[in-house]
Amino acid sequence: MGYKEFHRRSIEDRDEFWGELAGLIDWSRPFDQVLDYSNPPFATWFVGGETNLCYNAVDRHLAARGDQAALIYISTETNQEKTYTYRELHVEVQRMAAVYQSLGLGKGDRILIYMPMVPEAIFAMLAAVRLGAIHSVVFGGFAAHSLATRIDDAQPKLMIIADAGIRAGKVTPYKAMVDEALWLSATPPEKVIVVNRGLDPTFYAVEGRDLDYDTLRAEHMDAQVPCCFVESSHPSYILYTSGTTGKPKGVQRDTGGYAVALAASMKYIYDARPGETYFATSDIGWVVGHSYITYGPLIYGMTTVVYEGLPIRPDPGIWWKIVQDHKVSVMFSAPTAIRVLKKQDPAWLTKYDLSSLRYLFLAGEPLDEPTARWIAEGLGKPVYDHFWQTETGWALITGMPGVEKTPAKFGSPSFPAYGYDVRLLQVGSGEELGANQKGVVCVVPPLPPGCMTTVWGQDDRFRETYFTSFPNRLIYTTFDWGIRDEDGYYFILGRTDDVINVAGHRLGTREIEEAVSAHPGIAEVAVVGVADELKGQLPLAFAVVKDPATIATPELRDKLESAVMATVNGILGAIGRPCAVHFVTQLPKTRSGKVLRRSIKAIAEGHDPGDLTSLDDPMGIEQIERACAVPELKAR
Ligand code: AMP
Repeated sequence: MGYKEFHRRSIEDRDEFWGELAGLIDWSRPFDQVLDYSNPPFATWFVGGETNLCYNAVDRHLAARGDQAALIYISTETNQEKTYTYRELHVEVQRMAAVYQSLGLGKGDRILIYMPMVPEAIFAMLAAVRLGAIHSVVFGGFAAHSLATRIDDAQPKLMIIADAGIRAGKVTPYKAMVDEALWLSATPPEKVIVVNRGLDPTFYAVEGRDLDYDTLRAEHMDAQVPCCFVESSHPSYILYTSGTTGKPKGVQRDTGGYAVALAASMKYIYDARPGETYFATSDIGWVVGHSYITYGPLIYGMTTVVYEGLPIRPDPGIWWKIVQDHKVSVMFSAPTAIRVLKKQDPAWLTKYDLSSLRYLFLAGEPLDEPTARWIAEGLGKPVYDHFWQTETGWALITGMPGVEKTPAKFGSPSFPAYGYDVRLLQVGSGEELGANQKGVVCVVPPLPPGCMTTVWGQDDRFRETYFTSFPNRLIYTTFDWGIRDEDGYYFILGRTDDVINVAGHRLGTREIEEAVSAHPGIAEVAVVGVADELKGQLPLAFAVVKDPATIATPELRDKLESAVMATVNGILGAIGRPCAVHFVTQLPKTRSGKVLRRSIKAIAEGHDPGDLTSLDDPMGIEQIERACAVPELKAR
């Protein structure tokens, strides 16, 4: 069956289609109903079915693949490499699950994971879902304040952390960040398990709260912890993502729908095979890490590579050496990483034997044509751009070589994935647009299995945020502009909202603005995302100071800029730090008081500011123009 028919069936014969794909995973109790959509936009998949993510990712492979590598850990930061077979993974996950149980954790309890790329992070996720507990992984780059916000929203009973992360040889103490976050938190968990890597010499344990993982593990070496089979709709995890408000949303994922969606994607999107090796270069703190480092490859009986390190250390051939040494068949990365490699000698791309590699998939941010062409030609392999979001959990627009090897077009992620009824709609009217007309990429609900089921604890927010952009109809909005050419290929043209994308990581400008405003010298601020050759976009801040004397000289300005950067670092982490802070005495606003972000962004990128008829006072725009014209004040 070709792509078109496959996609048609997924929409028109939905129950039959997904009912068949549900056979890709194991159920302890079969479902009675494929989909319950009686309460739109909330879709409940595989009603009555019971299953367990950990069982599908680990236990069910033991008979046939017990001695096959399940997880290969490679750290070029600590020069470690360790392989866990499915049997060994099973043992480690049960040990960790037993530790959780000994601390009173069980079904429905939240466990917050704040860890770098170490095998224990994967065990921590699997052990949580084994018990029916709900994990929430927070990316290690987020600082104390962001962590505290997530703790207060998820209200975990337990946290599991590492003493430190390490990147390019530089140690980041996680423990100190956690101590501060727990101090800031209104609802701190009682216990914190620490996987102590011995990286942080300043490490100390808080008595009565911090527990050493090695010590606890030693008490449960022979643990046998059965899987807790849960209803298909039972939440498996919460993953926070930025939006237009300052408060991140907890994307809630179910169990059965997610497992089916991932298993199907391994087969139909990635064209992967059980027993092969899958290498996603992301981090478990992001959705790609959840779906394609941890769950997808393991559910499908593959070997997953867990890599801690950079793409260019010890040299720019490291990824390709991993592909050669571990016979990787499918690889998943992000355009920024490829742009980093593009700055290196292209000879690295051909130094190693890449005969095992069938595909490279990229996602997370727009893939520019020169980068796509460079990597596809350099590797001599098919490169697929694919478009998805934390919310969807798996690709929404993608090539699907497992269904049909449709030719790729550079700059396009190809076609709507099966299960997604994608439309391009006109802003405001919601009118459906034809070929070569720019509109908002939307999905007619119900969303397919694997997508977010709600915002954690806030059903109204789920509905309001994603489904109310158009009058009188419930339509899921991706908040991305898109266009479809006459051959049906989609092109993604950037966000419609104030969310920016830095190196494939999503940041809300509002969050950064709140962090900048936390500095006592700042009265008001506007943050915009400006184009950057390497990282796609960078946040750039324009701040109004409370006292002009604080920026009276270039030295004072530099001093204040550093202080503001340090404030952002402490609140959001380096990930949210603007590339520069330009000081102004006024921001351009409309007469109704709305900051003209679009014009600010245009000026910062050297474009025409566009329609300024609603501008209240031209001074605001002049100040932005002046700030951007001074060479040393330009975005660095
Ligand atoms: P995140 O939820 O952090 O993965 O960010 C999702 C956002 O990243 C999307 O809404 C898009 O703006 C952007 N994005 C992800 N994949 C692509 C892609 N292949 N092409 C263009 N933009 C993408």
